[in-house]
Amino acid sequence: SNEQLVRSIEVVDVFELVETTLQSMHTAYNRKFLLTGEGPIYANTDLEQLRQLLFILLDNARKYSEKEIKTTLLENELGTKISIMDYGNGIPKKDLEHIYNRFYRVDEDRNRKTGGTGLGMAIAKDIATRISVELTIESVVGFGTTVHIFIPKDQILSNF
Ligand code: ATP
Repeated sequence: SNEQLVRSIEVVDVFELVETTLQSMHTAYNRKFLLTGEGPIYANTDLEQLRQLLFILLDNARKYSEKEIKTTLLENELGTKISIMDYGNGIPKKDLEHIYNRFYRVDEDRNRKTGGTGLGMAIAKDIATRISVELTIESVVGFGTTVHIFIPKDQILSNF
């Protein structure tokens, strides 16, 4: 659709965006979402796309874990990193490379109860490409998963 071609770049306070997104997740699901980091962090980005990306990743974090979800914002001379960490089941190594594929879900039996189509991460990857941020996943089975969104410094209106 045309909508996908429309870019609307504006100055966004990434810290505030993360904060308000966590707040609405907390309101919707009554789960504990913690935030570490300092704002404001201004970036030239697409507010709605970045918000949707955060939603997909936070939604997975709460769907596939039961404890609190920790989000960290880290700024350095290379850019800004948003890390979303859950203490869920984790994703087996063999599945990690497929996680961005459409309709791919890990361990059908385990996930049946949570529902879902397996489209979330494919959309997340598309958004990341479109707004030029880097998406990386670290996961340890039995410990949890951390997904990083890295916003390179050329998009940051920075103090560095
Ligand atoms: P939806 O289309 O509703 O997002 P989904 O959550 O199954 O459905 P994806 O977001 O694409 O789809 O995720 C694909 C699979 O990756 C999930 O089914 C799940 O097995 C695994 N997964 C994703 N995020 C996590 C996470 N934080 N912890 C554990 N497993 C995860």
